[in-house]
Amino acid sequence: MTQTPDLTSATIVAFIADIFERRGAESYLGEAVTMSEHMLQGAALAEAAGASDTMIAGALLHDIGHYTNEFGDDYIDRGIDNLHEEAGAAVLERFFPTEVTDCIRHHVAAKRYLCATDPAYFARLSQASVDTLRLQGGPMDDSEVAAFARHPNLDAILQVRIWDDEGKVPGMVTPDFAHYAPLLQRIVDAHTGASS
Ligand code: FE
Repeated sequence: MTQTPDLTSATIVAFIADIFERRGAESYLGEAVTMSEHMLQGAALAEAAGASDTMIAGALLHDIGHYTNEFGDDYIDRGIDNLHEEAGAAVLERFFPTEVTDCIRHHVAAKRYLCATDPAYFARLSQASVDTLRLQGGPMDDSEVAAFARHPNLDAILQVRIWDDEGKVPGMVTPDFAHYAPLLQRIVDAHTGASS
């Protein structure tokens, strides 16, 4: 089992960078891009759209939950189930505000919401995303849609989901993780009250 790393506001960004570096080449669940390509593409699309720092961070980190074993047993043991979206948000919420972690926590729910509310959305999903939809509960029903629509960060959550779906382009050139490190550190410092 993994030893719990002693993460602080001064080390979390380098810790995430190391995960991208070591494990980013892993395949992304049947998609034609690697995990790091996929997450960097989401961030690049967000940046190109002039999105807020927290939305760029949400796009960049939305699938970090696939690596929660890196965060050690302490995090895993805190009642976190194996849903990658929930686990990803849980390991980062010490360091990032809800504007970021909600985009991570709800990116699968956002897919189910959009499938229920936007007929054109389903047609744009990749085959791998269609394949996982059933396992994830299928499109939301009316009561789920009504409840999700009241989420305070709904617009950011849905937009990050769109970039998630669009960030699956083989060969797309993007900035590397280091480009986003200062942005992440600014968010961490603001959230934790750290001065850097
Ligand atoms: Fe994704």
